[in-house]
Order: sequence, then C-alpha cells, then structure tokens
Amino acid sequence: MAQAGIHALAGAAARKVVPRREWLLLGIILGNVFPDLDNYAVAVATLGGLNTHGLHRTFTHSLLAILAAMAVFFVVAQVRRQPRWTNLGVGFGVGIGMHIILDLLIWFNGVELLWPWDGWVNLWEGVEPPAWFATLLDPAELLFIVLYLVWLAKAARDHHTNADFLATLRLWIIALVVLFIIFTPLAYLMSRGFLTVFGVAYLISITAAFIITIRMRQTIEA
Ligand SMILES: [Zn+2]
Repeated sequence: MAQAGIHALAGAAARKVVPRREWLLLGIILGNVFPDLDNYAVAVATLGGLNTHGLHRTFTHSLLAILAAMAVFFVVAQVRRQPRWTNLGVGFGVGIGMHIILDLLIWFNGVELLWPWDGWVNLWEGVEPPAWFATLLDPAELLFIVLYLVWLAKAARDHHTNADFLATLRLWIIALVVLFIIFTPLAYLMSRGFLTVFGVAYLISITAAFIITIRMRQTIEA
C-alpha cells in the first residue's frame, strides 16, 4: 500500500511532463487517488460482518477500471459537448495506471491487475516488512495526505489561486496532523480494534484529499 498522499503527490509531479490541457492534470491527480477509495467497500463489508477479501486492490486497481473511467468521461464529453471531460477521462485513466505501478513498486503487496479475471501481480511475493514498519504504514497515510495538502497550499500561494479556500485548507492540515499524532502511538498500543477506529479517520482524510483536489482545481491547473 503506497499511501494515498504519495499517489496524489506522484500525480502532482506529472505536472512537469504532461501537456497543458484543461482538466488533464486534475484528472491525473484524481485518478492517482481514486483506486484506494475501494476501502469504502471494505468498510461497508466490515460493518455488515461480510468477508472483505477481494475488495481492496482489485476492481479499482485494474486495466478494466482504466478503460471504464475513460469510457465514462468520453461519453460525458460527448453529451456535454465539452472536450475538457475527455481530458479529465484521459488523465483519470493515466492516474489509475500510475497508481497501479506505484502500488506494485511500493509496498509489500500486489494488485488484481486483470480483474475480474485472475491476474494477481505481486512483485513482493514472500517479502515481509518488519512488524514495526508495517504498523507505521497505517498512520503514515495521514502524514502523506498532510504533505499533499501542504504542497497544494504552497502552490496556491505561489500562483495566487484559491485564496478564499486557504484558511479552510489550513484547518484540514492542522486536523490531520493532530490525528497523525494521536494515531501513531495508538497503532502500536491498541492490539485490537485499531483498524476500525483508524479506518474512519483514513476514509475521512482520503475523501477530503479527493474533494479538496477538485475544489482547488484552479491551483492545479495554474
Ligand atoms: Zn492502491
């Protein structure tokens, strides 16, 4: 699991190489974050007492997801007669592709690349991270989303964009730093139930990152 914030920052780094088209970079960053929203399916299944196997790193982490996202946005572009939706879809597909590659490279797990067919790819087969490190990976999610939001804040100040949102953004950053400080010791101290409590904070933070990205598209496109 590369952290969602790492994925978002990877999308933002694409800024240097992608051509300037309306909503293209926005799509790339959103596509980089999107696949891990499959954790909502995990949360719903957990709450319903169902088996969570096959929900994470499967349908949203597949070649089919890339094609589906591109197709949906292409149709929207035709209906609305706005080419920027096609750009958004191309970016979204590229972003999901980047997410899959990064997930394969870091950390210690695979993805169901050919979902719904059997296509589990795991470059880390048989490699186990040290326990202290594996434990740190969960609270680190919050830290990396903070880093992504800090990048957004800096970009907004540099480009003089989204000035009306910067105060709210600062509150999000402070709140997530506080959650990171709380959850890091909890990850080591709580032997049971940590993932349930942490899962709520995680879903809030990744959803916030997704929505704030859309809210701050002016900054991303600047
Ligand atoms: Zn992922």
